[in-house]
Amino acid sequence: MHKANQTVLEIDFNALKANFNYLKAQIGSQVKFMAVVKAFAYGADAQQISNYLQNLEVDYFAVAYTNEGVALRKAGITTPILVLHPQPVNFELLIQYCLEPSLYNTVVLDEFINIATKNKQQNYPVHIKFNTGLNRLGFNSDKVEAVCSIVNRSSCIKVLSLFSHLAASEDVNEIEFTTQQIEIFKTIAAKYNRLTGTQPWLHLCNTSGILNYPNAHFDMVRSGIGLYGYGNSVAKQSNFTPIATLKTIISQIHVVNKGQTVGYNRAYKAITNQKIAILPIGHADGISRLYGNENGFVYINNQKAPIVGNVCMDIIMVNVTKVNCNVGDEVVVFDAQFNANTLAESVGTISYELLTSISQRIKRVIKD
Ligand SMILES: *Cc1c(COP(=O)(O)O)cnc(C)c1O
Repeated sequence: MHKANQTVLEIDFNALKANFNYLKAQIGSQVKFMAVVKAFAYGADAQQISNYLQNLEVDYFAVAYTNEGVALRKAGITTPILVLHPQPVNFELLIQYCLEPSLYNTVVLDEFINIATKNKQQNYPVHIKFNTGLNRLGFNSDKVEAVCSIVNRSSCIKVLSLFSHLAASEDVNEIEFTTQQIEIFKTIAAKYNRLTGTQPWLHLCNTSGILNYPNAHFDMVRSGIGLYGYGNSVAKQSNFTPIATLKTIISQIHVVNKGQTVGYNRAYKAITNQKIAILPIGHADGISRLYGNENGFVYINNQKAPIVGNVCMDIIMVNVTKVNCNVGDEVVVFDAQFNANTLAESVGTISYELLTSISQRIKRVIKD
């Protein structure tokens, strides 16, 4: 039996490397690879992961917010970093740390040009985002002329890329919609190139886009979830290895008699005599209360143990009546085998949410 000593999130760099190599093998040798390391590299460890991928010569990083990019620069990352959703209040900081903004509407474009001019910048690298159907961030396609006329008279910026984001790249029932997004994107790019006489790089695909739309890789792809080992479908999953293992330890075991209850609000009531294990991980660590009351589960010595009662802030209780285990045994919340997607699906969510919820108070351990 495995012995653990505390709750840890273990990160497997060999798995990361294998996922990276697999994704690279799906794209042409001229296509650049942008590693999306927002939200602490999907809950793993943005600095360590970025450093590792930088050594593997990844072309670009993407983060969501400026402060995430600043943290990477402070950790010694020198690879270009795209900030997907920068706020104008942080533009000075963004320039100071050589981060590259996504500019997605006239307000942020004008504001960035103001601040770049004030900071005496010439040809500062920026990326223009277009909305092709996700209806999240991005200029609509009817704004291409307006964007081009601003870009044409602003020497303080240099547009390195045009990009957009797919709404349903993992969904085989949405091929028609996705194909339409790809066509809209091509039309935007052609018009932009004509009106500016330039040819910025184009990028559109996230992980599922890479896997499902090989004709839409353009000049660069942006992958997050695939690097961390999730393929977004049963069919694709076998090509990936989840890099993160969340494990904990049995702190105590109670024998609870028939009729007794467990935890807050007496939410679990034993209908027969039961053995209940107490684990040092709770909703403050990212295990939502939704996982309580036998929705979620963990694995102890390869046997499944349902979470019983309400999830507490720092503790969950699991039913180990049928599990051969002792205090001090290791508990797997998810790993490469019992993966985060399966656990996430037990409460109707996705791997992305479970992974990025793992609180910063849990120690990250790198396994090389
Ligand atoms: C988060 C994000 C990605 C990465 O998506 P995955 O599905 O994790 O590969 C790519 N592009 C944009 C704009 C994003 O916000």
